[in-house]
Amino acid sequence: MERYWNQEIECMSREDMKKLQDERLVAQVKHVWDNVPYYRQKMEEKGVTPDDIKSTDDLYKLPFLSKADLRDCYPYGLLAKPLSECVRIHSTSGTTGKRVVAFYTQNDVDLWNECCARAITAAGGTKDDVVQVCYGYGLFTGGAGLDGGSHKVGCLTLPMSSGNTERQIQFMQDLKSTILCCTPSYAAYIGEAYKEMGYKPEDNCLKAGIFGAEPWTEEMRKEIEKSLGIKAYDIYGLTETSGPGVSFECSEQTGMHINEDHFIAEIIDPDTGEVLPEGEKGELVFTSITKEAFPLLRYRTRDICVLSRKKCSCGRTLVKMAKPMGRSDDMLIIRGVNVFPSQIETVLIAQGYPPNYQIEIDRVNNTDTFDIYVEMTAEQFSDTVKDVQKKEAELVGAIKTILGINPKVHLVSPKTIARSEGKAVRVIDKRKLV
Ligand code: ADP
Ligand code: ZN
Repeated sequence: MERYWNQEIECMSREDMKKLQDERLVAQVKHVWDNVPYYRQKMEEKGVTPDDIKSTDDLYKLPFLSKADLRDCYPYGLLAKPLSECVRIHSTSGTTGKRVVAFYTQNDVDLWNECCARAITAAGGTKDDVVQVCYGYGLFTGGAGLDGGSHKVGCLTLPMSSGNTERQIQFMQDLKSTILCCTPSYAAYIGEAYKEMGYKPEDNCLKAGIFGAEPWTEEMRKEIEKSLGIKAYDIYGLTETSGPGVSFECSEQTGMHINEDHFIAEIIDPDTGEVLPEGEKGELVFTSITKEAFPLLRYRTRDICVLSRKKCSCGRTLVKMAKPMGRSDDMLIIRGVNVFPSQIETVLIAQGYPPNYQIEIDRVNNTDTFDIYVEMTAEQFSDTVKDVQKKEAELVGAIKTILGINPKVHLVSPKTIARSEGKAVRVIDKRKLV
């Protein structure tokens, strides 16, 4: 049976949800106008005042905010509450450049916990569960977010943070963890180490995992589910909108429900800024309608994805977003062709390789070089040189079919590619280093 943390909200009718969003948006725009001179000026430049925003139908009139705005405003420029009312600061992982910082009032922290509590409940969590949080604790939002949600649900929380994989597994066994929370790449690593320590998937008490903070493919999901004997749920969020819990997966596992009572989602054409109809692929934009200290209106995430209002078998009415398969700035342009690392990951895992790979790009004599290093499993490694060469050629063929360009594939021995305890480093683009 499907469990809800907040059934009234999670299963609310579309009309009631719109009414709630309308009210909250109007109040939020006023709060920002009154307290954030930077955004007020942006509104004035666009000729919009709070009087023009009467409901969510007027959302399109508001100016966008981008990561560049956040960097310009570092550190206090977008703060909408006095610092004396703030209780917490977090910062982005800095995956794509200078970090940005976000501020929270106690109420902001409480609402964030509520969002994560919904995610844990959707993954089957109750107060009887033991939740092992191995997202990093600290400035990164992963640890604090799932920790807060776990406490709110009343689960027994194991605040492990990331790293020390053997100890993670020891505690997982001794303290009978039932839900594991970390990045998918760390989950894959734990699964691998688990097997090496001589355990089988059925040797643990885990039933579910809540994995997010980076893109991961369906193939990777299956790998993790198999290696640990669990059901793996996706969770999405970004520091700018509090952290994980903006959206979460339910039992249907076909996208993540967005907590629409706190965030309004739009999909826009990244080039023109035009709002796209439901079902079209584009850049995800969020407006936070309940955040006090750091409310962002029409924030461009640069994550590329699709929204769907198709009825979900779990009973939730919250809009669903597809797994974002990378940010517009994760996209590589190799010899003029657009390449997302996730496309390569799909091919690798489908062909029986572990999710341990690295893409290296360079420019030699004005031409892009495109190398993919892929680890073999122990069994594959015992093959003859001729067999390995044949496998490399097969992979080149499969990747060429998807991308239209030829990579150089290097199959390497097990354990040669560095494992990640947080977000994986999949790409080394040496072109940028010059
Ligand atoms: P940084 O931008 O430095 O990585 P964050 O830790 O705030 O900082 O990361 C937020 C970003 O992580 C999102 O914008 C998105 O690109 C990515 N992300 C988070 N959760 C997921 C997920 N479940 N699937 C794909 N990408 C995700
Ligand atoms: Zn659902």
